[in-house]
Amino acid sequence: MKLDTLLKLKTIKLFLLMLPVLLYSSCLGEPPASMNTTSYSVTKPDHVFHWKMTTTWPPNFPVLGEVAEKYAKWVDEMSNGQIKIKVYGGGELVPPLEAFDSVSQGTIEMGCGAAYYWAGKTPAAQFFAAVPFGMNSQQLTAWMETGGGYELWKKTYAQFNLVPFMGGNTGVQMGGWFNREINSIEDFKGLKMRLPGIGGKVLEKAGGAAVLVAGSEIYTSLERGVIDATEWVGPYHDYKMGFHKIAKYYYTPGWHEAGTQLEFFINKGLHDRLPLHLQSILEGAAKRAQVWVLSEFDKQNGIYLNKLVNEDKVEIREFSKETLDALRGYTKEAIEEMIGDDPISREVYESYSSFQNKIGAWSKVTEKAYYNKIQE
Ligand code: CA
Repeated sequence: MKLDTLLKLKTIKLFLLMLPVLLYSSCLGEPPASMNTTSYSVTKPDHVFHWKMTTTWPPNFPVLGEVAEKYAKWVDEMSNGQIKIKVYGGGELVPPLEAFDSVSQGTIEMGCGAAYYWAGKTPAAQFFAAVPFGMNSQQLTAWMETGGGYELWKKTYAQFNLVPFMGGNTGVQMGGWFNREINSIEDFKGLKMRLPGIGGKVLEKAGGAAVLVAGSEIYTSLERGVIDATEWVGPYHDYKMGFHKIAKYYYTPGWHEAGTQLEFFINKGLHDRLPLHLQSILEGAAKRAQVWVLSEFDKQNGIYLNKLVNEDKVEIREFSKETLDALRGYTKEAIEEMIGDDPISREVYESYSSFQNKIGAWSKVTEKAYYNKIQE
């Protein structure tokens, strides 16, 4: 090859190598016209989905009702207006506890609640909300996200034509308001308490009576002595219910609800026909809800606990270790009875318990040690 031909080839090669740099430099000189504008115009979607969401909470319920509204807003923004969700409080469209069936049948597109409301449909549902002496929010999220829990939740709900999403967590709840001291397990004998779900079954094994009282009637029932005690959520919600005006002792911890997981659920047929990016948006917005709800609970409960203790002079009491150990024993019996020989519930229980055992050992040497030794 002649020298001048070789030089030409080398020049061309160098030019090609430099091309990206040259192009980039020319871009730096003059920004595209679109960068000078404050916003980009994005084509509006051809098809807009108009959905209804029915919740199991009263309209405008603090935190839980608020997050349903936020979810609708986030989905609208993320989908560029392609999914519009109108939120209804419990009872506005259907009674609160009909949300599951209505979404399952497709008469309403989606719902918001807590899986333990559906324990009558399948006992497995309890594990996706809260079981006594179960995992706290951090541990439950780990089970769901990376420990196989979410796959089992989807499998459980698929039987009912539903797709679930995690939609927030209350964090550890309080043990409840009592008008008598609880110094040992014996003090539960004859105690009439509003305590739903498995917690209520445990109370009955301890000799108490679990009384079913609607949220709106708890205050008067406690005031008139129809019940001796009640649990609700935590300082923020409890303060608004006014329990501190009529009960003597506020007990901790909420052994029956160590961090209740909340949920959104969507009709599965409808969900599965959506394009993948919209499915992803529905799940992504729920993840945002998961973070917001626990954060809001932690903030508000911190503020209202101080109010209760410092302004209203509420006496915080702790259940003794012996009392809690006895309740734990009854819980194992109650869960075994609940599951019976239902295969999917047993599968969920085994996954849940083995994960709780594994992560419990880790939490003990880290989280628990930290709280005990540093944040006393
Ligand atoms: Ca509760």
